[in-house]
Amino acid sequence: MISQSSTVQESNRKPIRILVGGFFHETHTFLNGTTPWNAFRVIEGNAIHDVAGDASPLGGFLEFSTQRKWEIVPAIVASAIPSAILADETLEEFWKRFEKVWLSDSAKNLDAVYLVLHGAAVTQSCSDAEGEILKRIRFLPGGRELPIFGVYDLHANYSKNMAKYADGLVGYRENPHIDARESAIRAAELLERSIRRNQTPKQFLFQSSIVWPPTGTGTAYDPMRLLLTRARQMENENHDFWAINVNAGFAFADSIDTRVSFSVITEGSESDALTAMNELNEIATANADKGVVLERSMDSVMEELRQTPALNGAMIANHGPPIILIEPSDNVGAGAPGDGTGILRLLLKYELVNSAVCLWDPNSVAQLRNVAIGDLVNLELGGRGSPFDLGPVSISCKLLRLSDGHFELEDKQSHLASVCGNRFDMGQCAVVEHNGVTILLTTNRTPPMDLGQWKHMGIEPKRLSFIGVKAAVAHRRAYDPIARASFLIETPGPCQSRLTAFPYKHLRRPIYPLDSLPLAIN
Ligand SMILES: [Zn+2]
Repeated sequence: MISQSSTVQESNRKPIRILVGGFFHETHTFLNGTTPWNAFRVIEGNAIHDVAGDASPLGGFLEFSTQRKWEIVPAIVASAIPSAILADETLEEFWKRFEKVWLSDSAKNLDAVYLVLHGAAVTQSCSDAEGEILKRIRFLPGGRELPIFGVYDLHANYSKNMAKYADGLVGYRENPHIDARESAIRAAELLERSIRRNQTPKQFLFQSSIVWPPTGTGTAYDPMRLLLTRARQMENENHDFWAINVNAGFAFADSIDTRVSFSVITEGSESDALTAMNELNEIATANADKGVVLERSMDSVMEELRQTPALNGAMIANHGPPIILIEPSDNVGAGAPGDGTGILRLLLKYELVNSAVCLWDPNSVAQLRNVAIGDLVNLELGGRGSPFDLGPVSISCKLLRLSDGHFELEDKQSHLASVCGNRFDMGQCAVVEHNGVTILLTTNRTPPMDLGQWKHMGIEPKRLSFIGVKAAVAHRRAYDPIARASFLIETPGPCQSRLTAFPYKHLRRPIYPLDSLPLAIN
């Protein structure tokens, strides 16, 4: 099928036709409840064309396709922000709609398939949703022969079926994920190479015996920095390699594939690919402890602040630049609810005035709708979304501001922009204050990846002394430039970095750091 269309394209009679789809979810299997189909943002049919040129991976792929004059057959792209295990209906509903397009007249004479995936999607019955989708495509009429390329997230728990049933899956190389769009284009370039040369590469996978919490997967730091640097060198040393992916894994999706892994797209031998991946595994193993980045107690951080003149100033001066108190346990970008009261309790306990934190709390926002600005209200703040939390904080707050919560992203290159486009909807919002602690209450869960979230509400984050941020790494691009200092703070929550806190059932053992090194290499 490829050779036919290549011949036709050379004579300029018929453009290359690519079917486009996507299924994107990072699943936290330790959260209560399930994520239903209606939690997904679904783009189907011709609406897919409207995404061309935006900051998302799909936007990047579509822009590339336009430049190459490829004809796009739009199927369905479904994405949801990280949350609890996917209800089975999500995969089945996606598949029903995808298959319908595939079997329709519009999908005749395809040359390839391009997919936007995450790599850590888990449903009630399937621990490897992406592998399952790829497998099902191969069993559709004509699916066995078509090249399947696509892009996926650096936090993928890359599976054997992803390697077996796709031809060229390209992962992000940056965390925070500022390169999601660029990675989608790299995958499209490989697809173009495959079509032009009428050559289908092979994929090989090596799964390590290491799992890192998200706090340890920032690419500006070792071990990810070391691994990614070596992977780029290997690509330059051996031109058979079309791409080498370093997959950090997603520790909170409990599956047999949950771990750090490496995958190679190559036109060369399996033994060359294995040699390269073995070396990467040795680097990962030798530096495994550097990926276990744990939170600190607030007591020890307060002690450090008191003893460090430059930082102590933040508490005395009562103005910015702010000290960022990072709360990975309630990391919204990894599926946590964002209503954890850990940091709020610490801001109140240590009387950190001129401070702020954002909480997902639709109940309190609804309660505040009919309150006059400046009035005092008794609120039960947060603490409902996770069994790890101590429960709502009861305090009397002054209402400062209400808003519809729609804001324009300040940073159009951010990971948040790659997921949601140029605007984000926090839902109805309220800003309240108690003893110098400002609390932004949202109706929708909002990952802290863009300062527009604060500015939109009339709060200048640079002038704050302390900001509580519910993230692990993804906030860095927005907050590092304005921060006096940052600390990872230990609070109870579903995304804490101490992985021994989680009741893993499916994770293949032994695995570091749950089991100690040295481990038998698989
Ligand atoms: Zn990710």
